[in-house]
Amino acid sequence: MLVSAKEMLDKAKAGHYAVGQFNINNLEWTKAILQTAQELNSPVILGVSEGAGKYMTGYKTVVGMVNGMLEEMNITVPVALHLDHGSYEACYKCIEAGFSSIMFDGSHYPIAENVEKTKELVAAAHEKGISIEAEVGSIGGEEDGVVGMGECADPQECKMIADLGIDFLAAGIGNIHGKYPANWQGLSFETLDAIQQLTGEMPLVLHGGTGIPEDMIKKAISLGVSKINVNTECQLSFAAATREYIEAGKDQAGKGFDPRKLLAPGAQAIKDTVKAKMEMFGSVGKA
Ligand SMILES: [Zn+2]
Repeated sequence: MLVSAKEMLDKAKAGHYAVGQFNINNLEWTKAILQTAQELNSPVILGVSEGAGKYMTGYKTVVGMVNGMLEEMNITVPVALHLDHGSYEACYKCIEAGFSSIMFDGSHYPIAENVEKTKELVAAAHEKGISIEAEVGSIGGEEDGVVGMGECADPQECKMIADLGIDFLAAGIGNIHGKYPANWQGLSFETLDAIQQLTGEMPLVLHGGTGIPEDMIKKAISLGVSKINVNTECQLSFAAATREYIEAGKDQAGKGFDPRKLLAPGAQAIKDTVKAKMEMFGSVGKA
């Protein structure tokens, strides 16, 4: 059964580790991530962007697929199904469809409007036992057409949003989505520290986990980051493994064209990526 992400992240914050959010795109992705979490006895958050939700034909399909897998695969570790960077409308759709967690990305609204809408969604989510993440300060890079510049959030605004009753908070600290450019300045630990000083127990979320060096990840966790989002890295490893299979001509040998064979190396690559991240984040054995 899906669970809200609140308890697993409160535990992570208290235990000084982080739970990975891995975005899903289809059945192979979801299966690979769930298998890895179960094998490593780790809690896990399945992230679904609006674009991925649309790709999978809608949120109800996603909920049906994930719930089916939890049962058929005998998954016993805590699993949350989370809307990633949701609009106001998408948040309501996911609450209705049976997600166990949502993120409202109101970072592009003026702060007063972000506050109003967040407050309303907190009430709607909590009424159904669903956890909710909010964001302050845009996160750089591009995700589903939303482009941000990688700014640092204002710690006072973070405190204002944290006080609305949300369960965890995403704050821009110089992180960006996708691959990091060569001239990237790194994470602003000064900002992160200031945010944690003001928000206390609130689990903090680090978006754009692809390619952040391990020492920065560890330091971020020590400063209160309890959820780290990984998306691009699974896509890159899936693509590389699939390319290798085809370039080696394996799809033309025997029944190598069978989709269950063709997609197997990519699925294994996702498993390897997720395993490495769970080990780095310290969530192994914490289910
Ligand atoms: Zn993000």
